[in-house]
Amino acid sequence: MPALMLEVITPEKIVLKTEAASVTAPGIQGYLGVLPRHAPLITPLKAGVVTYSREGSEAERLAVSGGFLEAGADRVVILADTAEKATDIDVERARQAKERAEKRLRERPANLDVARAEAALQRALARLKAAGVC
Ligand code: ATP
Repeated sequence: MPALMLEVITPEKIVLKTEAASVTAPGIQGYLGVLPRHAPLITPLKAGVVTYSREGSEAERLAVSGGFLEAGADRVVILADTAEKATDIDVERARQAKERAEKRLRERPANLDVARAEAALQRALARLKAAGVC
């Protein structure tokens, strides 16, 4: 099967540019899979795990924290707010971010920005999942 060109780009840098046989990504309405010859598509993403596989090798993962995916017949471009390859994730930092967000949501101080705390929790969970620790 012909390959896809997968690019993952953040405002800071090009995180990944590689050939892939398939890509799955966290669309706001659920995970979606893209194979070569996919119909043209643009969809918003939520925080979660992008998985891609290269012909003959194991699937690899990245954490993303929202953005957009554009798919065409032979390419997938992910424009993400943040994106980290699994191997670049600082697991301890993500654990601490998760604990901070959970504590805020549990204790609910009067000035709590709930949406912000929930978004921070989802980013931390995505990083832990991509790193394979939750
Ligand atoms: P924290 O509270 O730990 O800063 P955060 O979710 O608020 O986490 P972001 O604002 O999403 O952090 O990201 C800021 C920058 O730090 C981005 O470049 C992102 O890729 C990077 N980053 C955040 N958390 C991690 C992590 N656990 N491992 C590696 N890079 C991270």
